[in-house]
Amino acid sequence: MPQKAKQDTPAMRQYHRFKEQHPGCLLLFRMGDFYELFFDDAVTAHQTLGVTLTQRTEGVPMAGVPYHAVETYLRRLIAAGHRVAVCDQVEDAKQAKASGGGVVKRDVTRVITPGTLTDETLLDAAAENPLAAVAFHSSADDPDGTASLAWCELSTGRFALTTLPAGRVGDELARITPSELLYCDTATGNAPPRVQTLADRLGCPLTGRPPYTFRPAESAQILKQQYRVKTLQGFGLTDEDPAVQPAGAVLHYLRETQRTDDADRLAHLHPPKRFDPAQHLVIDATSLASLEVLQTLRTGQTQGSLLGVFLPRCHTAMGKRQLKHWLCYPLIDPDQIHSRQQVVESLVNDSRFADDLAAVLNQLHDVPRILGRLAVRRATPRDLVALGQSAALIQPLHHTLADRPALADTAKQAAELIDPLTELADTLTTACVDSPPAHLREGGLIADGHDTQLDHFRSLQNDAHNWLADYQKRLIDDCQLNSIKVGFNKVFGYYIELSAANKDKAPESWHRKQTLKNAERFITDELKHFEGEVLSAESRAIAREQHLFDQLQDLARKQTDSLRAFADLTADLDVLSAFAALASRHRYVRPSLVEDPVLHLTQARHPVLDQTLAESFVPNDLNLGPPTDTDKTSPSDAPDVDSPTPYHLPPTTSSTLALITGPNMAGKSTYIRQTALLTLLAHTGAFVPADAATIGLTDRIFTRVGSADELHAGQSTFMVEMTETANLCHHATGRSLVILDEIGRGTSTLDGLSLAWAIAEHLAARQTRTLFATHYHELTQLADTHANIANLHVTVREWKDDIVFLHQIAAGATDRSYGIHVAKIAGLPPSITTRANDLLQQLAVNHHTPPTKPAAPETIAASDPMPLFTEMLEHPIVDQLRQLDLNQLTPMQAFDALRQLQQDL
Ligand code: ADP
Ligand code: MG
Repeated sequence: MPQKAKQDTPAMRQYHRFKEQHPGCLLLFRMGDFYELFFDDAVTAHQTLGVTLTQRTEGVPMAGVPYHAVETYLRRLIAAGHRVAVCDQVEDAKQAKASGGGVVKRDVTRVITPGTLTDETLLDAAAENPLAAVAFHSSADDPDGTASLAWCELSTGRFALTTLPAGRVGDELARITPSELLYCDTATGNAPPRVQTLADRLGCPLTGRPPYTFRPAESAQILKQQYRVKTLQGFGLTDEDPAVQPAGAVLHYLRETQRTDDADRLAHLHPPKRFDPAQHLVIDATSLASLEVLQTLRTGQTQGSLLGVFLPRCHTAMGKRQLKHWLCYPLIDPDQIHSRQQVVESLVNDSRFADDLAAVLNQLHDVPRILGRLAVRRATPRDLVALGQSAALIQPLHHTLADRPALADTAKQAAELIDPLTELADTLTTACVDSPPAHLREGGLIADGHDTQLDHFRSLQNDAHNWLADYQKRLIDDCQLNSIKVGFNKVFGYYIELSAANKDKAPESWHRKQTLKNAERFITDELKHFEGEVLSAESRAIAREQHLFDQLQDLARKQTDSLRAFADLTADLDVLSAFAALASRHRYVRPSLVEDPVLHLTQARHPVLDQTLAESFVPNDLNLGPPTDTDKTSPSDAPDVDSPTPYHLPPTTSSTLALITGPNMAGKSTYIRQTALLTLLAHTGAFVPADAATIGLTDRIFTRVGSADELHAGQSTFMVEMTETANLCHHATGRSLVILDEIGRGTSTLDGLSLAWAIAEHLAARQTRTLFATHYHELTQLADTHANIANLHVTVREWKDDIVFLHQIAAGATDRSYGIHVAKIAGLPPSITTRANDLLQQLAVNHHTPPTKPAAPETIAASDPMPLFTEMLEHPIVDQLRQLDLNQLTPMQAFDALRQLQQDL
């Protein structure tokens, strides 16, 4: 912070004062038609916004944005993770002069941070915008410690908290996806390393807060004050509960940024609800990312993710946000899942019902966020009208739901909302026009005929003409002078004009105003009064509208509970209708969720590729666990793509672990991921892309991808891979689903194979349902010795010298890896692939066959020198070629290696 120079102007002294009051914020300082930023803030603005960097005075960098476009710039600053304090002029410049102070009075009117947004223009309608706080606790008994989290969405009022083992906090935050993370500031001024790590993984901005805002006593106090309770017991909390600390910190920050101590200003906040992880299927951060649930790995976009499949089917903003929530928090209670499925089914079975519901949902506005803006006093006229129009939909909604057994509870809830919401809707829709302006600066919200005072002010403006004509007529009658004229002049205002010849006939009550060459102008008390009224009518009309607007907002705020219940109910219905729309359109089926830990999928498809590849996507079966009654899989022998009847996997005998082998690009990853995605979807109550599905209730889904895969590119890869695998080996239960993709790749072949072998044995012993895609063909021997391990492979067809990927999963192991074919597809020159093929033939002839009996992995890959190479001239290139492990190389790496060899030659 630069020293306040003595020669600072009064304005700059103001600037420094506000800057000090808002540490960590960029200060936008209103000067005339611009918001200016100074010093480091100016440099930041220059870098983030590309605005020109100038100097106010020597050595004071300055950058400015025009005031009328400030929202756009705010949006960009917030998106870049900054916090912004907006300092406005709170009096007229003329007033300042008049009061003799010289400098205009200013104040910070808004503090905007990524986690505390409420304005529609700054928010993404489809995304939640939670503010989270984390507090770590450790003790002598528990050195690993626990962490408490609280998270709140200011724009909708959702507020939750939980305490969990410190190691789990990253996973939980990954599904909360906070927009801003608060932590307790330390003496060093830097975030503690574990907090920094969390923020880096989440890619979310960090905000350090004064330690007192996290202190138990202060936190309990502010919560009690906010909810006007004497004790927190009603929320299932005690003052000592560790989760109260971050909750208090969140509330404190919200009050500070909203610049209020008034609980009413945040009246829309729900009481903090304790989140119970045991109620939901657990998906950790890594699985969420590698299954591409919310965004794709490659581009980080929603499109191409699981969320992206359903999102376009939602009709409302609250439905879109609820969808994301449901995908991150699948249910495990079969009854709850069942009741969601019932609704989806009734929509699928009755397209008329689905259409009617969609028609209602389509008209709904973002009610929860409007409620949020109402609470923090930032609602716009459009918000109010949108609220009225939305509330009016309760009747058609109820009508649509009535007499549907699957929706009896929902219909009952809707019925209770009819009276309060209809009353509010009637009031709002009669009071307001249908399409009001974005702000109230020039009025235009309240309908004509609603308020007599307002009508009077408006008619004064609109009907001034008529009144004047009437008045003129009255004067002519009274004075018996036909030449009287009533007129208006910008400089002199209203006047009555008599020709010079008649000027003496003016009644005494008229006051002389102006003398012209041929005429004399007068004013009367009545006309003067009228003038005053007309001229002030506009500002009075606006003031009156503001007053009425405030009254209507109060009225709406009184219905917060009903409106919130309405919003929750419609958000759920919207997600369910999106599930149903997908099910109808893309032939999804209702999965049956059973207690047995099975996984029987018939002709299952990957939800994303199913849409992008459509007909050319090859569906596949899967049978894990004992066959069940509902299992409709019909056996058949071999894959045959030419036949129109689909190929089915033969039922296996109670295997829990399937090893999937096959060449690169065959479809292994796709197959195992689709299985995880279908399992996840089934637990949200959605239907799944398959012909039939029986899924055992699942407690956790683990997905681990070998470090050679793109996912970890650039990180300390093998370490990451093994840490994650360790975690799953500890936590996977007989109810979990484990997806392993090329685990063990990040180290030497021998190490990797041994590890993969041991991990497979471990998971098989636990009876954890596991799909393990691997390039270690040696692993396939596990099936010989373990009753619950089965081999599957992805079929390819050799055609002339080429291979065709059939993407079909079949029973048994494959014996070839087709690395050279893949290299050919990747564009390697034919001279090289032909030569490589020759070499492979010779190698294969002399290949040391692995033992068929289970053996310690170490002995498997131990190889004798091969005759081929001992007989050949020992050119160094040959030795290099020998070192190449085609099983280990990606097509690109193979290509690079071969190019290198060719260059060396
Ligand atoms: P692998 O993991 O065996 O290397 P992937 O699962 O990554 O192969 O699949 C490679 C590509 O093959 C995918 O991007 C997709 O385009 C295609 N593919 C995979 N599975 C199928 C399928 N069942 N039907 C059609 N195309 C598929
Ligand atoms: Mg793969």
